Amino acid sequence: MKYLSTRGRAPELGFEDALMTGLAPDGGLYLPRAWPTLTAEEMAALSGLPYAQAARRIIAPFIGGEIDDDALGAMLDDAYRDFRHPATAPLVQIDDNLWLLELFHGPTLAFKDFALQLLGRLFDHVLGKRGARVTVIGATSGDTGSAAIHACMDRPNIDIFILHPEGRVSEVQRRQMTTVTASNVHNIAIRGTFDDCQALVKMMFNDIAFRRDMNLSTVNSINWARVMAQIVYYVTAAVSLGAPSRAVTFAVPTGNFGDVYAGYAASRMGLPVRRLIVATNRNDILARALTTGHYKVAGVSPTMSPSMDIQVASNFERLLFDLYDGDGAAVTESMTALTAEGGFDIAPEPLARARALFDATPIDEDATLAEIARVHAETGLLIDPHTAVGVAAARAVAHDPTAPTIALATAHAAKFPDAVERATGRRPATPAPLAGLLEAEERCQALDSDIAAVQNYIRSEGQPNA
Ligand SMILES: *Cc1c(COP(=O)(O)O)cnc(C)c1O
Repeated sequence: MKYLSTRGRAPELGFEDALMTGLAPDGGLYLPRAWPTLTAEEMAALSGLPYAQAARRIIAPFIGGEIDDDALGAMLDDAYRDFRHPATAPLVQIDDNLWLLELFHGPTLAFKDFALQLLGRLFDHVLGKRGARVTVIGATSGDTGSAAIHACMDRPNIDIFILHPEGRVSEVQRRQMTTVTASNVHNIAIRGTFDDCQALVKMMFNDIAFRRDMNLSTVNSINWARVMAQIVYYVTAAVSLGAPSRAVTFAVPTGNFGDVYAGYAASRMGLPVRRLIVATNRNDILARALTTGHYKVAGVSPTMSPSMDIQVASNFERLLFDLYDGDGAAVTESMTALTAEGGFDIAPEPLARARALFDATPIDEDATLAEIARVHAETGLLIDPHTAVGVAAARAVAHDPTAPTIALATAHAAKFPDAVERATGRRPATPAPLAGLLEAEERCQALDSDIAAVQNYIRSEGQPNA
């Protein structure tokens, strides 16, 4: 299996190199040159398999034999072993033909664990094979940092440094990061804002000598392997509800377009997907783009579903590449216009093709609260605000009533207790990974927002590449 860049001017790579490279040198995102397909028999045969075994069958063609199949199987078993539900990604019915796909049973109680738990192990495996180490660095305003830390902790070939703005992440978010005591995990509280943290990370990547000495890397959402890992639960959920003989619709709370793009990838592999409903909060660049064809940046405004408060959706570039029939120059032109002019237009014909599969709708804050309340009143379940955006969009968008609709539940209600309590008067019970967090010891280094101070710290605590 070869991977090419959406911008069309980077060499094709095999799976391992695409994994380790992340962003292509021409600024593009990697995609498989051709989609592997799942036949109807192969889909039917997934029914009833444990999640990790289904994942192995779905993922293997993307790896193209570069990683030994048994080693892959062992990594998958290990990645999903600690999920706190025997089905890993269970389905729960909440209305006639409407289901929740619970993706929050992983160690940090959000769906990003599905991709990152595997990504950390894949990174470590390839590094071990190559006799190399990396230093993963990243900035977080809350949730991504803890999922990345839990993915990299105790991996022998990885050091991870996560910068967060001191005093500006919630106590639970901070403690999910700082109570991880693995010796390769380093939390840095920057005396500054999230923007300062991001600027520091960017400066470190732009410092060629530092980047080389420390072998810097990221686990951000544009890495192909994250999309790949997320394809699995679309397939297993659809098979549980009757695929390949019955088509299903997915409603996906969307920020960077990574998760819903994995649903698109599943449909390209042959999964019968009737519709993909892109659910956004009031930061609705994607809903606007898919409705009008104008992809135009607007400001970000904070909501109850902060993981979807985005200005641009980086993974949308992967869909554009397909809509433009693999024309890297056309993708480059759109992305250049995005940087220079804050937007671009999608031509009518490619837009029509996108709309043949995608629906999109924004859900405002009142509708989000109302949906949390409705699901609680009708089923007794407490859902988080991100999930509520997806469920509300599923109900709002007219669709084929014969196709079951699966709304992705992307975070546990206990991660957003204030919003849940506001909507329902009930405070969600604290599940195991959060219980005990308030008493556990924290490990964190506070530093000024000063590039030299941060680099000195990382040099002294990390393990420079030999
Ligand atoms: C990251 C995140 C999303 C958005 O996913 P994308 O892949 O960025 O579209 C939705 N819900 C939660 C809880 C998240 O953490």
